[in-house]
Amino acid sequence: MPTETIFTRIVRGEAPARIVYRDDEVTAFHDISPAAPTHILIVPNKTLRTLNDAGPDDQALLGKLLLTAQRIAAEMGIAEQGYRIVINCNSQGGQSVYHLHLHLLGGRHMTWPPG
Ligand code: AMP
Repeated sequence: MPTETIFTRIVRGEAPARIVYRDDEVTAFHDISPAAPTHILIVPNKTLRTLNDAGPDDQALLGKLLLTAQRIAAEMGIAEQGYRIVINCNSQGGQSVYHLHLHLLGGRHMTWPPG
């Protein structure tokens, strides 16, 4: 499995993306194949393949990813009606891009359980 993914290239500004937020630690951009009217991916700039690869040193970074999602949800006007945050981990979790990312999904009613 290559360590560099399309998300790594987006973070570096080497691949195109519709960026909605970027700072020294995280980057957020529109999913190329949206599963909901609002579908934003929030990624750490640092390459972590999966949630399994995060450790105690990443505690603040993981919190930052969630707070970034919360803020973008408010900015995009989906906070009050509601939204879903998803992290897929490894193959049975449905992960396809091996650079840790949060999905922020909103703008429609979500069902449970996920497929
Ligand atoms: P996951 O299955 O959790 O790994 O999610 C990967 C997500 O990345 C999917 O929702 C894809 O549609 C999305 N995706 C893949 N390539 C790109 C890209 N170049 N720009 C934006 N989103 C992408």
